[in-house]
Amino acid sequence: MSRRRQIYEGKAKILYEGPEPGTLIQYFKDDATAFNAQKKGTINGKGVLNNRISEHVFTLLGNIGVPTHFIRRLNMREQLIRQVEIVPLEVIVRNVAAGGLSKRLGIEEGTQLPRTLIEYCLKDDALGDPLVTEEHIACFGWANPEEMHDIADMAIRVNDFLSGLFAGIGIRLVDFKLEFGRIWDGDYSRIILADEISPDNCRLWDAATGEKLDKDRFRRDLGGEVEAYQEVARRLGLLPAEGADTTVLDMETHRKKRDK
Ligand code: 5GP
Repeated sequence: MSRRRQIYEGKAKILYEGPEPGTLIQYFKDDATAFNAQKKGTINGKGVLNNRISEHVFTLLGNIGVPTHFIRRLNMREQLIRQVEIVPLEVIVRNVAAGGLSKRLGIEEGTQLPRTLIEYCLKDDALGDPLVTEEHIACFGWANPEEMHDIADMAIRVNDFLSGLFAGIGIRLVDFKLEFGRIWDGDYSRIILADEISPDNCRLWDAATGEKLDKDRFRRDLGGEVEAYQEVARRLGLLPAEGADTTVLDMETHRKKRDK
């Protein structure tokens, strides 16, 4: 049992009070949910992989000047983050039609979109995170127009960077979900990137085979969730290419070396 004060428990993460004011500890669970928590399960080791993958991605984004809540990874399942006031929106960035977009508009999954699409959903489990427009956001004051400008700007920057990063390791970045938060300095606030970026909130397809390397394996009962997450971590250089953890990729490397 932890004696730390728990601030919030979400579906895949727990937030604890941090060691200093303005900080929190983000703990990555192995729990997986889908379809607004109607489907629940556990993916053993997912939290460890997502902690590591998200650390890596947030660090790279920080290096190109995207402000994020990430401070440092503390251990296998925890990272130190800046406390933010979460903007109650899920910002979805899409490059290829899939999931909710395909269902809603009848566009075949896998269709390359003619331009990057940004959608906003209200973060509200009870309502099933409904799609909202910028008119709703302004009308109900969930974010002001200046903040929305910064959010859209950062979402596009993150998409450009991540599309390239994943393309370089043979992965097609289909879509992903971002969350943003406000940090206050006196009467002024600014928007920074929060939450996580991992196969839990991205659609990642193998560029050659189209194989799903993300949470859709869980959502659609495809199996092999951990192996898919490991594959993403391995291609990002976060897990050894060879070792006890033998996968199809490792087998291929083995075979090529042996047959030389
Ligand atoms: P869709 O709207 O097609 O279901 O999701 C679009 C993208 O956003 C997918 O990459 C999906 O993983 C992510 N996403 C949307 N809503 C959520 C959510 O509530 N939780 C998580 N983890 N990801 C989400």
